[in-house]
Amino acid sequence: MSAAYSPPSYCVVGGGISGLVAAYRLRVAAGPDASITLFDPADRLGGVLRTERVGGQLVDVGAEAFVARRPEVSALLAELGLADRKIGTTGVRPLIFSEGRLHPMPQGTLQGIPAQASSMAGLVDDATVARIADEPSQPFSWRTGADPTVAELIGDRFGPQVVARSVDPLLAGVYAGSSATIGLRAAAPTLAAALDRGARTLTDAVREALPPPMPGSVFGAVDGGYAVLLDALVRQAQVDWVHVGVKQVSRDGRGWSLVDDEGGHWHADGVVLAVPAPRLPTLIDGVAPKSAAAARRIQTASSALVVLALPGGTPLPEQSGVLVASGERLNSKAMTLTSRKWGRRGNVELVRLSFGRFGDSLARDVGDEDLLRWAAEDLSTVFGVTSDPVDCHVQRWMDALPQYGPGHAGLVAELRSGLPTTLVVAGAYLDGIGVPACVGSATKAVAALTTSGVAR
Ligand SMILES: Cc1cc2nc3c(=O)[nH]c(=O)nc-3n(C[C@H](O)[C@H](O)[C@H](O)COP(=O)(O)OP(=O)(O)OC[C@H]3O[C@@H](n4cnc5c(N)ncnc54)[C@H](O)[C@@H]3O)c2cc1C
Repeated sequence: MSAAYSPPSYCVVGGGISGLVAAYRLRVAAGPDASITLFDPADRLGGVLRTERVGGQLVDVGAEAFVARRPEVSALLAELGLADRKIGTTGVRPLIFSEGRLHPMPQGTLQGIPAQASSMAGLVDDATVARIADEPSQPFSWRTGADPTVAELIGDRFGPQVVARSVDPLLAGVYAGSSATIGLRAAAPTLAAALDRGARTLTDAVREALPPPMPGSVFGAVDGGYAVLLDALVRQAQVDWVHVGVKQVSRDGRGWSLVDDEGGHWHADGVVLAVPAPRLPTLIDGVAPKSAAAARRIQTASSALVVLALPGGTPLPEQSGVLVASGERLNSKAMTLTSRKWGRRGNVELVRLSFGRFGDSLARDVGDEDLLRWAAEDLSTVFGVTSDPVDCHVQRWMDALPQYGPGHAGLVAELRSGLPTTLVVAGAYLDGIGVPACVGSATKAVAALTTSGVAR
């Protein structure tokens, strides 16, 4: 007599974009009969993706965009029947706040690393412009596979002003980190590859590494906010959402046993762990100690966001926002002029200011009142705007931004290699911090589960 077929069962731990995409991909791979249980103790699914109403308008108060050059989010939107919800920017450009004033963001750089000296003119002093121009004549050596911090390489070749005024503002925007701690291979993989291929100088390597110009907007977003994407994922994944955290995963025959924060026990044939890096080690200490140890070495930054709805007609410039150079006497590290960047809706000007960099405790320690006051001060300093907001929202994202230090890819390979085949990971600390990379990591995690045999 043959054993009765029982459909596979999966648990997905963490309901941010990584967990939701994993759940959706599992549903597609395993079919309608598979049991997919998703655990997340938060009040809402989506993790760092969260859409709120401020000044009557829907606005993302976590991630607000995705890099349009990468295919993952556009493809996912299309797959979910949401292709028409993808929007681009209005075409206005960002600024850099450095030395107490605003500068146009240099064009033709790779993460702020110039391909030619002239692009830095006005942002750095003449001696630094001359130094960049002279770089090709200076002896240069590169060890294949090396992964210095961005500041080590760029500071050494182009000087500290390029680091502080051009590269740091971009890295602070992406990682809430700085070039002193982010590894070159993570921040600029195509540059590292060009150097490995034997580029003669840094300038040559940057030129080789620059992506070809792409028509259209560099960034995309979802009309109606990321909530639109999250809702579609939840609907199409048909998950059972259990509003509780998981605290431990252990072996259970050929599958897995999960213990939740309330002492409940769950069984699954396959598990996707889609929690932030700091939450991973205690979950897997018992079953994958080497992976747990690797995850413990990934550091994180926290960020606080203030979203203001200013009265319609507030005189803000036609720019998408401002990135702040390191060492400036401003409280915020970046400002997004949301209504200018994506197009205005309603009779308000939406502005987002973000605070907190790797190594500071600002997002944890500074109260809402102080953050709102700092936001007002910065708007006044940078734009001379003193209008009172008609509405506001403060959002904190604790330990949400993994830092991709030198050697990060090796650390991630070590982490993954220590996991049994039916226990997989997805998340922002693996293959890139942005939403497209998270979608990619979830897709990769489910493909690994599928080939392990569970989803057949
Ligand atoms: C302020 C900010 C702005 C950003 N802006 C952009 C941007 O514009 N564009 C872009 O591409 N990227 C941006 N990012 C990065 C990107 O948004 C995140 O990296 C990505 O959303 C992370 O998704 P995730 O699912 O991996 O993790 P998370 O969103 O952190 O989700 C993890 C989930 O796991 C849950 N969880 C934790 N512990 C447990 C447990 N024990 N059991 C069960 N569940 C648990 C949490 O409640 C959470 O919901 C931004 C990040 C931040 C913080």
